[in-house]
Amino acid sequence: MKRARFLKVAVPSPLYRDFDYLPPPGTDPSALSPGARLKLPFGRREVVGVLLEVSDKSDVPQAKLKAARRLLDASPVIPADMLSLARWAAEYYRHPIGEVVQALLPVPLRQGRPATVAGVSAWRLNAAGRDADPTALGRAPRQRALHALLLEHEAGLDSQEIAIRLPDAAAALRALRKRGWVDDVTRDAAPAAVSTAPALVPLNPAQRAAAAEIGAALGGYRAFLLDGVTGSGKTEVYLDSIAAALARGLQALVLLPEINLTPQTLARFRARFGSVAAFHSGLSDGERLATWLGARDGRAQVIVGTRSAVWLPLARPGIFVVDEEHDASFKQQEGFRYSARDLAVVRAQRAHAPVVLGSATPSLESLHNAAQQRYKRLHLPERAGVARHPAVRLVDIRTRPLTAGLSDLLLDAVKRHLSDGGQVLLFLNRRGYAPTFMCHDCGSQELCRRCDARMTLHGRDRLVCHHCGAERPAPARCAQCGSASFGAIGQGTERIESVLAELFPGTGVARVDRDSTRRKGSMEKILAEVRNGTRHLLVGTQMLAKGHDFPNVTLVGVLDADQGLFSADFRASERMAQLITQVSGRAGRAERPGEVLIQTLKPDHPLLVHLVREGYGSFAAAALAERRSAGLPPYAALALLRAEAPGTDAPKAFLEAALNRLAAGRVAGVTLLGPAPAPMERRAGRYRAHLLLQAAQRAPLQKLLAAVLPELDELKEARRVRWSIDVDPVSLD
Ligand code: ADP
Ligand code: ZN
Ligand code: ZN
Repeated sequence: MKRARFLKVAVPSPLYRDFDYLPPPGTDPSALSPGARLKLPFGRREVVGVLLEVSDKSDVPQAKLKAARRLLDASPVIPADMLSLARWAAEYYRHPIGEVVQALLPVPLRQGRPATVAGVSAWRLNAAGRDADPTALGRAPRQRALHALLLEHEAGLDSQEIAIRLPDAAAALRALRKRGWVDDVTRDAAPAAVSTAPALVPLNPAQRAAAAEIGAALGGYRAFLLDGVTGSGKTEVYLDSIAAALARGLQALVLLPEINLTPQTLARFRARFGSVAAFHSGLSDGERLATWLGARDGRAQVIVGTRSAVWLPLARPGIFVVDEEHDASFKQQEGFRYSARDLAVVRAQRAHAPVVLGSATPSLESLHNAAQQRYKRLHLPERAGVARHPAVRLVDIRTRPLTAGLSDLLLDAVKRHLSDGGQVLLFLNRRGYAPTFMCHDCGSQELCRRCDARMTLHGRDRLVCHHCGAERPAPARCAQCGSASFGAIGQGTERIESVLAELFPGTGVARVDRDSTRRKGSMEKILAEVRNGTRHLLVGTQMLAKGHDFPNVTLVGVLDADQGLFSADFRASERMAQLITQVSGRAGRAERPGEVLIQTLKPDHPLLVHLVREGYGSFAAAALAERRSAGLPPYAALALLRAEAPGTDAPKAFLEAALNRLAAGRVAGVTLLGPAPAPMERRAGRYRAHLLLQAAQRAPLQKLLAAVLPELDELKEARRVRWSIDVDPVSLD
C-alpha cells in the first residue's frame, strides 16, 4: 500500500497553527519540498500557502482533509534556512506561522505570481539622447534630472536604481522615450558586478582596528557593538568590513532606520561598491521582488534596506550590519512585532557570520550584552577628520525670562553664532503651533473626541490630534462658557519657526518636521537650502537628529529636555538621552567648534547631569543601574498582552480571563502585572488595556506563553476584543 503523505502548510491566517492538506492531484511527491508555494482551498477562499514539511501523519481524519489545488513552484522559493528562521521567529514572538511566512515573502509571491524578475526594466540614453541639448527640456525639471542622471550612467540604469535616485520618474521616463532619446536595454542588463573602489579617506587607527577585528571574524559568528560617537566614521568601518566579505565572495546585508536610508547614504555605498541593491518602502512591489530574488540567488552582493530587509534570503551570507541599532523603528509595532536588530543577530548566529551593531548611543540592551561579553565592543572615541566634540551646557529655565519657550541665554547664543557666520539648529520634539488650545475665560481645553488627548493647534485655526489624526477647525466660541477668547499654550515647531522669523528677520528659518516634509522632495529642498547657506536657522523634531550632515551648524539648542524624563514609559529617558546626544552631534561637524545648550526645568536630574557632564556612556551606566533595581530589561524579559475594544469592559474582561489562564499555567518565575488601562486608555475611539508578563529569565516566560497563548482565542471574552502579544515590547503604551 502506498504510504499516505500529508502536507503541513503555513496558511495566511491569524491562527496559531499550520494546516494539513493532501498533495495536489497528480503531483510527483518528490517535487513537494518545503519552501514551495501551494494554491489551497481555505474556507470559501483560495489562498497561497507555503509548504513547511511533508509528514506521514496527520491528526485530521483523512476523509476530512482537502487536497491542495496546485503546486506553484517547481523548486522551493523560500530557502531552508529562511523557512527555519520563520519557524523560530513564530515561536519566539508567539506569532502565527502563516503570518510570519507572509512577512518573509514579497507581495507578488504572496499573490502566487511567478518567482521571476518581471517589472524591472533598464534604460539607457541613445546617441540622440546623449547629444541632445537639455535646455530643450525647458520647464520639465524631472525630465532634466532624469536626463542628467542617465548621462552620468552611460551603461544605463534599471528602474530600481532610477527610483532610488529620482522618485516619481515614471512620467519623465515616458516623455524622454517619446522624444526618442532613451532605449530599453532591459534584456541586455546583466546584474552589475560589484567592484570595490578604494576607501576615499585613509582610516584612522581606531577605525582600522575595528575593521580588522570584524574582518578577522568573517566565516564565523561573532557579534560586535560598534560604539562610536557621532561623526567618528562608523560608516567607513562598515564599508571596509563589507569589502572584506565581498573579497571572499560573500554577501552583505545592511539595515538602516527608514529615515536614514537617504540617497546620500546609498551614494556612499555605491561610490565604494558600484552596485548596491536597495530594499525599502519607496520601491514598487516588482522592484522589491527583484532585490529579493537577487539577494536569494546571490546576484545582489550588497543590500541596504530598512527593517523588513532582515527577511531577505541570502545565498552566501557574509556579514550583517545594523546601523543606529538603538533606533526604535527596527521593532515592528503592529501585527508581527519582531525586532529586525535582534533577528539580524539570530541570523548571523545561524549563518556563521559576523554581525555589527553600530551606534553613537547604543541601546541599554546592547551595552548590557557587551558587558556580559556576548557582544564584542569596538570603540571609536574620537570624531574622524577635523571635527571636535562640542561643549555641552544645561540651561536652567526656571529662573530665566522666556520668549515662546526660548531663554534669553539661548537667544543670545543664537545671535552670537549667527553673527559669526554659523548656522543654528533648534530641536523640539513637538510639531504643530501649540500643544494646547484653551479658553481664556473658563480654562477648558480642546480635546480629541476619540482619544484621551489634547488637540494640537496647527497654523492659527486648525486642531489636529497627534494620536488618531482627527482634525477640526478651531472653534469660534468655547463650548463650555461661550467665550470667544482662546489662548494657544506652549509651543511646537511651527510657533518657534514664526517667533524666530520675527526675532531674526532676513536670516532664513527652515522647519523640518513631518508636516513640512510631507511632499516628496521637500526635505531635499530644505536640506539643500541649509547647505548652500540660504537658511541659517533650523528648527525641527527628531527628523533633524538623524543622519544628516550640516557642516556649518555651530550651535544646537535643545528646547525641552524634560519631555523624556517624566514619561510613564520606562524607555522614555533612554530615548530622550539618545535624541539629545544625536542632535548634539550635529554641532560642529566641520572645522568650527560646536556649542550645545540644553534647556531644562530639572537641572539636577541625575540622568541629565550624567548625560551632560560625562556623556552618554555615563548616562547609560546610571540608567542601567535603575533598570536593574526595578527589574526591567535588560535585566528582565517582558511580554505585553494588549486588548482593545469600543467599550471599557471587554478588554478588562478578556485580560482577567487571560490572567486566570496564565496563573493556572503555574510556571514559576513569571510575574503577572495587571490588567491595567494603557497610559492613554482611549485612542481612536477604542479602549485599551494590557497585562504585563515579567520574568528574570526568558525561558519560563517563553514556556508560559507557548502553553497558554494558543488557548486565548478560545476564550469567550476574546470574541469582543482585538488582542495581541508583544514579546520584548519597546513601548508599554
Ligand atoms: P558616523 O557614521 O560615525 O556618524 P561617518 O562615517 O558619517 O560617521 O563619518 C563622519 C564624517 O567623517 C564623514 O564626512 C566622513 O567622510 C568623515 N570621515 C570618516 N572617516 C574619516 C577618516 N578616517 N579621515 C577623515 N575623515 C573621515
Ligand atoms: Zn470657556
Ligand atoms: Zn485622537
